[in-house]
Amino acid sequence: MRIQLAVLAGIARHAKDEAPLECCGLLLGGGDLIDEYVCTRNVRQSTVAYQVDPAEHFAAIRSARARGRAILGAYHSHPRTPAVPSPTDLAEAHDAELLYVIVSLLNEPPDIRAYRLDGGNFVQSAVVPVP
Ligand SMILES: [Zn+2]
Repeated sequence: MRIQLAVLAGIARHAKDEAPLECCGLLLGGGDLIDEYVCTRNVRQSTVAYQVDPAEHFAAIRSARARGRAILGAYHSHPRTPAVPSPTDLAEAHDAELLYVIVSLLNEPPDIRAYRLDGGNFVQSAVVPVP
């Protein structure tokens, strides 16, 4: 999946703004290009878990459809741990179509990695930054 640099920078900023809590949001685009992100509220308000506000999630789906766009992924942050899915992340991920992006603030610059579900496990997926 290709992701615009502005999106990578934007979700890293969102992660820093919400730290020490985890942030979360949605990634939109078309084809194999993510060129838009939507910051959503983490209803858990947790340092180790997240859940996209369901109302904001539905609103984003409606808005994307109305504009001929698609939700291609979801992102969240790991303020103090590597960009590796937690057991909770795996237990709660169910959409094989989505790219799951994790922003780690463990080091500077933030480490951003992407995963897809494959046979009940996460497999790391290449992220190609594009201008
Ligand atoms: Zn996580």
